[in-house]
Amino acid sequence: MPAEFPWQAMRDRPPGLWRYREALPIAVQTTPVSLGEPQTPLSYVDMPSGQLILKLDHLFPTGSFKDRGATVLLTKAVELGVTSVVEDSSGNAGAAIAAYAAAAGIAARIYVPASASPAKTSQITLYGAGLVRVPGTRAATAQAAWQEAQRTYYASHVWNPYFLEGTKTIAFELWEQLGCRAPDWIIVPVGHGTMLLGVFKGFEHLRQAGLIRILPRIVGVQAAACAPIYRAWLSGLNDLPQTLAVVTQAEGIAISQPVRWRQIVQAVRQSDGFLVTASEEAIESALLAWARRGQLVEPTSAVTLAAYEQMASAGRFASHDLVVAPLTGTGTKAAAYLAGKFSSLPGSMA
Ligand SMILES: *Cc1c(COP(=O)(O)O)cnc(C)c1O
Repeated sequence: MPAEFPWQAMRDRPPGLWRYREALPIAVQTTPVSLGEPQTPLSYVDMPSGQLILKLDHLFPTGSFKDRGATVLLTKAVELGVTSVVEDSSGNAGAAIAAYAAAAGIAARIYVPASASPAKTSQITLYGAGLVRVPGTRAATAQAAWQEAQRTYYASHVWNPYFLEGTKTIAFELWEQLGCRAPDWIIVPVGHGTMLLGVFKGFEHLRQAGLIRILPRIVGVQAAACAPIYRAWLSGLNDLPQTLAVVTQAEGIAISQPVRWRQIVQAVRQSDGFLVTASEEAIESALLAWARRGQLVEPTSAVTLAAYEQMASAGRFASHDLVVAPLTGTGTKAAAYLAGKFSSLPGSMA
């Protein structure tokens, strides 16, 4: 059966990801759990090597692209009659699940490592979710959430398939905004790969629906300090290499054991793409360079801008190529951290 994508019906609906609902595994009679997700804008920027197209996914209600996954996941939870959910994440995923659970009137408990700072967890508690602090490692936090999930609904951005169903809508929006075509390249950060796999699934859906012929080349970017998938891809490994050093400012992608890594490598290969890494210095200078062009993103999101820079200077792009880099998370959430980091810049207050 060809993939459903009834564009003639979709195009007359209000913009935003729910216009593509036939392409989502949600019953037609279910009312979406929505916070008014925008169709995130594109910003076309002239760079020395050609045009770069930014997709402003940091403009979602909670400040990151994770809202794509959360709106679809919580809608599914309502459809299933679920009354409470658990998730483990002290970052953007925890905030997005908490916000959409609040919108759905569903109780949420978000498990975080005991070491998570209040600066990170305050967004979660402001949305009204219960915060469960777990001593020990990040793995211990996941284990504790998993245990509670035996009795309730596991709204995990890592494990729950409906989260990926939501992130694939970025492909539909790009296709629409570029005039019913796929870009040539899309550069995305990779931790657990929810954006990368969403991009792949979305464009694959459009291909199976006969709306595009070839997938965009997907470039996945990991922080050099924590790059297990990059290393597995580069060396053709059958197992994920042990990754001990996970100290990177790109903390949203500091994932040493990404569960879907094989799928991620497969998706990159199938799209004729590749994986790259970004050093801490490159992340930092890309973040600052783009802030000085008016786009402030968090360090995790800046890895793609660093990778673009590397690829452009290596002459990877033809001048007419459509190159897209999503901005995945807003820098305003990280403002206190960034103020400390860049406190010695000219113009900053003593
Ligand atoms: C979660 C996140 C990522 C990475 O997403 P994965 O699904 O873990 O690959 C990138 N940028 C930001 C801002 C994020 O919150």
